Amino acid sequence: MRVADERVAVRKIIHIDMDAFYASVEMRDDPSLRGRPVVVGGSPQSRGVVAAASYEARRFGIHSAMPCARAYRLCPAAVFIPPDFEKYHAVSRQIRDIFHRYSPLVEPLSLDEAYLDVTDNHLGNPSATRIAQAIKEDILRETQLTASAGVAPNKFLAKIASDENKPDGLFVIRPQDVAQFVGKLPLRKVPGIGSATLRVFEGMGIATCGELAALPLAQLTHRFGKRGAHFHRIARGIDDRPVEPYRERKSVSIEDTFADDHDEPEWLLERLADLSERLADRLKAAGVKGRTVTLKLRTAPFRTYTRSVTLDHHTDDAAELLACATALYRQSGLMGQKLRLLGLGLHQLDNAPPEPLSEQQLVFPWCGAEL
Ligand SMILES: [Mg+2]
Repeated sequence: MRVADERVAVRKIIHIDMDAFYASVEMRDDPSLRGRPVVVGGSPQSRGVVAAASYEARRFGIHSAMPCARAYRLCPAAVFIPPDFEKYHAVSRQIRDIFHRYSPLVEPLSLDEAYLDVTDNHLGNPSATRIAQAIKEDILRETQLTASAGVAPNKFLAKIASDENKPDGLFVIRPQDVAQFVGKLPLRKVPGIGSATLRVFEGMGIATCGELAALPLAQLTHRFGKRGAHFHRIARGIDDRPVEPYRERKSVSIEDTFADDHDEPEWLLERLADLSERLADRLKAAGVKGRTVTLKLRTAPFRTYTRSVTLDHHTDDAAELLACATALYRQSGLMGQKLRLLGLGLHQLDNAPPEPLSEQQLVFPWCGAEL
């Protein structure tokens, strides 16, 4: 126990995030796309959403999860390309192999993002910054793609750091700089604080972690329950979550909180179509299918309901997800009620068992020293 506590104090975490991943892979493989606004996702005529946008496309205001039709209106000259998940999976395996050269503690978040705990690493290198630099160089040399890295004493800050200097960025938050960095950090940059929570804090006149840190714990837990305690820690830059290799997914889900409450069935069914497309993309990116489709509905007075259906087979198909979601909505008993949120999730996943650990990965370098 004491050993674990000491390790927490000196943790060195790197968050690596590939830059505009799907779009960058497509541009790498087709030189005619380079320098052009590229959108990976559905066609502009479809109801699909943007899965990735090149930096050239982002200049027009295009971003991921935006309907493709809207992306087209923003930039009719953009090149729309359907996603090729097999190709992205192959590159993802390449970068994962690179990560494992440096540490056994790699926690992938998606195809193009992972946390590494390099407190103890295969190279015995005490500088997490140099390791991050070396990983970026390996990735560029071996995949011709750029990644951004964040280095920090915990996961929360490492993830924010990787976003600071994108693309091809490297941003380091040293332990002695945490308080200053977090004090100025806008809440909208904090993962897990969505637009609804952001509005609540705005109403309280709170826009930064520094301002949030001034609130007493009791007030936060009273207003937000368990999440309040989490906010209290985050506001101080505290995050004790360990990097967890091979965490098995139990479900994949996605949700939308609306700017206004809605009860028009056609409008809500369109949202379900969006959610189905996005969930299908996310399932394909994660390489999993599932059997139980769950629809989540939150009514205007803030009551949350879920409705589920279990299929006799696994699916990651958007049309099938939409058919389930539509049937669940029609049978929910909530048609005609004003809703503020819709969510769609898939459970009972056909998770392939995690890839077996290689012998190298089983050698935890600190074991000999500390146990
Ligand atoms: Mg990325």
